[in-house]
Amino acid sequence: MLETLKKEVLAANLKLQEHQLVTFTWGNVSGIDREKERIVIKPSGVEYSDLTADDLVVLNLEGEVVEGSLKPSSDTPTHVYLYKAFPNIGGIVHTHSQWATSWAQSGRDIPPLGTTHADYFDSAIPCTREMYDEEIIHDYELNTGKVIAETFQQHNYEQVPGVLVNNHGPFCWGTDALNAIHNAVVLETVAEMAYHSIMLNKDVNPINTVLHEKHFYRKHGANAYYGQS
Ligand SMILES: [Zn+2]
Repeated sequence: MLETLKKEVLAANLKLQEHQLVTFTWGNVSGIDREKERIVIKPSGVEYSDLTADDLVVLNLEGEVVEGSLKPSSDTPTHVYLYKAFPNIGGIVHTHSQWATSWAQSGRDIPPLGTTHADYFDSAIPCTREMYDEEIIHDYELNTGKVIAETFQQHNYEQVPGVLVNNHGPFCWGTDALNAIHNAVVLETVAEMAYHSIMLNKDVNPINTVLHEKHFYRKHGANAYYGQS
């Protein structure tokens, strides 16, 4: 079932290591087939070097396993919740990549300081609020999805394809699993550059709004003109 989607999700999971976004088995990627209403996700705790397409777990939109013999990623309820909350996304990546996680642990949004950020994110990259004890004790992973969706009441998920979960790490998404990986690599790069910029000049200002919009909209939306047509 879903051989093409499995291949893509496997390739995306292997790219986590290639781009040095993960340590050990931390991190996970999923993809969704919206028509068939099936999600393919990495199994929990399996080494990337051992991972095959057959190890991937197929779920329905309730998060129930419909194919696969391994347990799905422990973050599965977060992925499932986000697919429902953000109807136009096709893939999700979660990592504890070091620069993005440093921002998440500091509880700070990543401010837009330059055009690299502006090319992909039309605002600051938000950090969620801290979770309440009750949200942590019961249905923690589901509540992580809810707190992300709550944060995006103030943002457009299609124009800000990633978030920092407070005290935890980044979740990124995209049109498919590989696009979500691309956004995760960009987020990590932007997080590192923002850190260095603030170290070099603690009074640094966010990018001028006109320049920010110029860069974002030349790559996104109806009037985009970046790249080959
Ligand atoms: Zn995590």
